Amino acid sequence: MLDLLFPPRCPFCRGILKDSEKLICARCMKELPWTPEAAQRQKFRHVEVCVSPLYYEGEVRRSLLRYKFGGLSVYAPKYARLLEDCIRRNGLEFDLIAWAPLGRKRLKKRGYDQGKLLAQELSGSLQIPCPQLLVKTADNPPQSGTGSAEKRRANVAGVYRIVDPALVKDQRVLLVDDIVTTGATISECARVLKAAGAKSVCAAALARSRFG
Ligand SMILES: [Zn+2]
Repeated sequence: MLDLLFPPRCPFCRGILKDSEKLICARCMKELPWTPEAAQRQKFRHVEVCVSPLYYEGEVRRSLLRYKFGGLSVYAPKYARLLEDCIRRNGLEFDLIAWAPLGRKRLKKRGYDQGKLLAQELSGSLQIPCPQLLVKTADNPPQSGTGSAEKRRANVAGVYRIVDPALVKDQRVLLVDDIVTTGATISECARVLKAAGAKSVCAAALARSRFG
């Protein structure tokens, strides 16, 4: 009944899905800017590896903008399935799932934390816990409007704190995010996690920039 009123749609092109199309439509499956094998893995400071199944372009970019700013949090389970595939293909191993939390102001404005939703979805399907490990202590300007890699690093330096070091001690942590560009945010989160005793940090982001 709900499907009649709100037929499931492809989160990328927004076309109505056929019965045979569970996650995304066949056309997007074929035509989205999927990262080739060699570009799926990136290395950032303090992060062993960051995997991404897609490039942040075209329909992917428009979809993520609707997810982040257009209230379409319903995309989270579908994004998480794509992330899960990529994580499995790349053989990532971890004990905890974490995310870079939004600051209080932005969370209030948006109503949901897009990274946390992805972490929770992955936690459910992989059966790996996602306790809140980090809090954001300052409302810095959004990374998307910040410019150069250096400016992005400076913009996030010192804005995350550990909730409880006992939670991360000797743990292998997976950081989940929607988009990774210069990696400044996940690097900074990884630095804080490792300083608190995390054994290792890897990451997964739905989309990466082509020239990271
Ligand atoms: Zn589609």
